[in-house]
Amino acid sequence: MELPKSLEKVSKILSRLPGLGPRQALRLSFYLLRQDKNYQKDFLESFNNFFTKIKLCQECSFPFETMNDNETLCSICRDKKRDHTLLCVVEKETDLLTIEKTNKYQGLYHILGRLINDVNSENSKTILLKLIKRIKENKPKIKEVILALSPTSEGNLTAYYLEKAIKNLKMDIKITKLARGIPQGGEIEFADSETLINALEGRK
Ligand SMILES: [Zn+2]
Repeated sequence: MELPKSLEKVSKILSRLPGLGPRQALRLSFYLLRQDKNYQKDFLESFNNFFTKIKLCQECSFPFETMNDNETLCSICRDKKRDHTLLCVVEKETDLLTIEKTNKYQGLYHILGRLINDVNSENSKTILLKLIKRIKENKPKIKEVILALSPTSEGNLTAYYLEKAIKNLKMDIKITKLARGIPQGGEIEFADSETLINALEGRK
């Protein structure tokens, strides 16, 4: 039998979410249909705001919301009290949040968005170029880059490529990595604060 077109469309969109297959997506669509009107209205409004009001920081890529159309930086990058010569490179937004939660890091961040598995792919080149451009143009000059990538094989490979590219700049920038403590193969996002503070303070 044929499903209503709009239902099929929603189901198809949901199935693109990570971890959701077509069958679960369809089940979710039926679930949403059964919810009361208030929930549906709220759902629609939230997603509308989410997709239209949030901007990504021009420097670090972290999402932020502002009434000022000309604002291009998130609150961290705008914060004059933070150390703008210290740059912590992370894979994703949730890694940034985990590090922020320690209250021990006062520098800036750079979110890669994804790890580099093939240095020759267009995606990887874009990621690398964006970071290098930022390091070159940052004022004040960046003194230290902390590669805070999860100690997985992809994370290590990414750190290797980033280190090589930053060294090639010959800008006399210290490159450090988090100290051991985060279990091999473990993810920064799930590290507890104490482990992360030790890893940050013992970085080398
Ligand atoms: Zn930012």
